[in-house]
Amino acid sequence: MTPLERALRDRISSDGPLTVEAFMQACNAYYYATRDPLGARGDFITAPEISQMFGEMAGACLADCWARSGRPGEAIYVELGPGRGTLAADALRAVRSAGLDPPVHFVETSPVLRKAQAEAVPGATWHEDLSSVPNAPMLLVANEFLDALPVRQFVAGIERKVTADAGGLAFDRDGEVVETSPARDQVVADVASRLATHGGVALIIDYGHPKSAPGDTLQAVRGQCFAPVLDKPGEQDLTAHVDFETVALAAREAGAGATGLATQGAWLERLGIPARSLALGKAHPERADEIEAACSRLCGSRQMGELFKVIALHSPNWAVPAGFE
Ligand code: SAH
Repeated sequence: MTPLERALRDRISSDGPLTVEAFMQACNAYYYATRDPLGARGDFITAPEISQMFGEMAGACLADCWARSGRPGEAIYVELGPGRGTLAADALRAVRSAGLDPPVHFVETSPVLRKAQAEAVPGATWHEDLSSVPNAPMLLVANEFLDALPVRQFVAGIERKVTADAGGLAFDRDGEVVETSPARDQVVADVASRLATHGGVALIIDYGHPKSAPGDTLQAVRGQCFAPVLDKPGEQDLTAHVDFETVALAAREAGAGATGLATQGAWLERLGIPARSLALGKAHPERADEIEAACSRLCGSRQMGELFKVIALHSPNWAVPAGFE
C-alpha cells in the first residue's frame, strides 16, 4: 500500500467516501510534490521536453501579439505549472529577440520542480497561485496544466465518490459520467479577468475536446503507460481531458477574448515550425534527422498534433494572436 493510500483510507474511514475531486487533488498534490515526473525516464514526456521548437513557437506567438499590441514595456512573462522550466527558457529566448526582457513569474506548487525551474530560468519569482502575481500586462503560457487540476464526476446527477474496502479503493457508482472542474473554471476566470483589466495574452495547450460532452476522461499514467486510476495513489499522474468549450465560455464571461480552438499541429505549422525545423537541421546536420522526427512528433496527426489543442485568451484591447483560424 502506498503512504498516500494509507492516509486516504484513514480519511475515508473517519469522514466517509471521498469525492473524485478530493481524490484527484490529494493524489496530484502528493505526486508532484515528491518527484520530477517528466522526461524519457519519468512517467510522461511533454511537448517542450521533445524539442526546443515548441517553446520557441509559443514565445514567438506571444512576442508577435505583444508587438502588435503597442509593445507595453512593463509586460511580464507568467507560466502556470512550468515543469522543468524548459518551455519558459525556450520561449523567453524568442521573446527577448523580439525586444522584450520581461520579469518571469512561475505558478508552481512542487518544491522539486521549482528547483529544476530555478536552474533553467535564473531570476524567476515563484507563486502558489495567481493571486500574488503582480498586476501588469502578461504573456502567459499553461501547457498540460489544466489537465492536472481536479474534476468532479457525476453519474445520473449524483456526485461520484471513492470508497475503501478490503480489496482496495473503488468507485461508489458507475454509469454515464459527466465531468465538471470548478478548479479549472476558477483559474481560467482569474487569468481572463487579469487580461481584461491589465492587458495581455494567454496560451492554453492541453488535450481535450472542443465541445462539452459526457464521458469519463480521468486517466492515470505511470512509466509512459496507462494504468488503472485507483491504483497506487500518489505514485502515478492523474489527468482528465480539458473541456475547451467551458474554457472559452469562462474566459469570455470574465471579459477576455477567446480565439477558436486550433489543433497543436496546425497551430505550430501556421507559426512556422517547418521552416524552423529546416533551419535548425542545417545548423546541426548531425542532428537533422532527430530534429525532423521531433517536428513530426509534435505536429503529426497520429502523434501529438491532433490530440493536443491550443486556445488563446486575450485582452479585448490586444491584437488577436497568430496561428488560429
Ligand atoms: N508545463 C510543463 C509541465 C506539465 S506537468 C511541461 O509542459 O513540461 C504539470 C505541472 O503543473 C507541473 O509543473 C506541476 O508541478 C504543476 N502543478 C500541478 N498542479 C498544480 C497546482 N494546483 N498549482 C500549481 N502547479 C501545479
